Amino acid sequence: MRQWAPSVRARLTFWHAGVLTLIICLFSAGILVFVKIRLDRGLDDQIRRDLEAIEKVYREEPWDLPELERRMGITLFEILGGGTVVYRTPAWPPTGAYPYRTGVTENDTFRITVARDETALRQTLRTLVVILAIGVPGAVGLAVGGGYFLAGRLLAPVGAMAAKARRIGAESLADRLPVANPRDEFGQLAGVFNDTLSRLQDAFDQLRRFTADASHELRTPLTAMRSVGEVALQRSANAAEYREVIGSMLEEVDRLTRLVENLLTLTRGESGRIPFTREVVDLGDLAASVSDSLHVLAEEKHQSLEVENAAPVKALCDPAILRQGVVNLLHNAIKYTPGGGTIRVVALGAKSGEAVIEVKDTGLGIPAGDRQRIFERFYRLDVGRSREAGGVGLGLAIARWAVEANGGRIEVESEEGRGALFRIVLPFVEDDGRPGAVAP
Ligand code: ADP
Repeated sequence: MRQWAPSVRARLTFWHAGVLTLIICLFSAGILVFVKIRLDRGLDDQIRRDLEAIEKVYREEPWDLPELERRMGITLFEILGGGTVVYRTPAWPPTGAYPYRTGVTENDTFRITVARDETALRQTLRTLVVILAIGVPGAVGLAVGGGYFLAGRLLAPVGAMAAKARRIGAESLADRLPVANPRDEFGQLAGVFNDTLSRLQDAFDQLRRFTADASHELRTPLTAMRSVGEVALQRSANAAEYREVIGSMLEEVDRLTRLVENLLTLTRGESGRIPFTREVVDLGDLAASVSDSLHVLAEEKHQSLEVENAAPVKALCDPAILRQGVVNLLHNAIKYTPGGGTIRVVALGAKSGEAVIEVKDTGLGIPAGDRQRIFERFYRLDVGRSREAGGVGLGLAIARWAVEANGGRIEVESEEGRGALFRIVLPFVEDDGRPGAVAP
């Protein structure tokens, strides 16, 4: 069963009107009670003054009693003494046609009774009740109407935001919600939502670029294979020529395989689908083992590859994933350093309590403007040179993911034409995996 869910506008109006009604009712009741008490007290005072005056005249100059009516307007009173009537005004006793209030004063010898007409008092109270009975519902009605109108005006930006948000889709991520007043709550909400939209738009653009770049990179080897195959088919070649054609096709297949594997690593890694382990890894050992597996490539180019392990430094990380990052850095250093150059891999502890692996080469270096962008997917400085070396521009993106996924960061320093230095920085840990205070 669907629950009754009134709109915010209706709820605001309801609460506003409800609270206001309660306040008005309390206020009206207060006024009524206050006025009644004041009027009652006034009449009681009047009766008390009447009794005093009558008693005084009765004691001092009883023959003047009839004068009281003329002088003081006391028209209704009676004096009894010893059980008999001593004096009584002509209008006594008060008739039942009007409401009266009576007061009595008595002692052993006399009893004075006075009465005052209560009609005016009751009339005043009745008028007040009528005014309030008409005024309160009127005020409540105004409160409901005004509240509904105000709530509508107040919530108008929400309606505008919702209407706009409904129209925003993948194709219109550049649109933004209207911000009426950036400082009020709705404005802040719209601002936060717009920031989210900006981030989504960036992510979408990045994804589109990535897809376009990936398609492009996949097409290049396919085109090469196709043209090599077509040319070979057109002419009648001998077995040796066919072998050559197949060999160059396999080269392109290798390139495709590498590309697809790299793409898979990146997309799996960034969507968190690669299982992670954490263990204490000696970075010196890691550097030595990566150098061992790549030194053949350096030898081919007559480069000298040196490993330096100043002091044992350890970090808590996934060794296989971190290794992938170091491999990519070292591979790049070999690729982008001309034959005869020198490459150094150093594991060291920084004073700031961090464990560091540095990969330093004497190659071409990286221009300052490109130093941050080289970590982007498919970003290459010199496309021809990079592709010749077998690169598609994913190596550093994978290296950065591998390091950041292990809680570290990757830095680059370079002097153009004089080599590059890539630095992997990880939090340093003790042998038992506890965070280390100061690295050795
Ligand atoms: P690739 O697979 O093309 O090598 P990377 O992501 O590994 O792609 O590197 C991106 C770009 O950064 C490369 O095209 C190259 O121009 C530049 N680069 C990377 N490492 C070095 C280095 N050690 N020396 C000079 N340039 C480098």
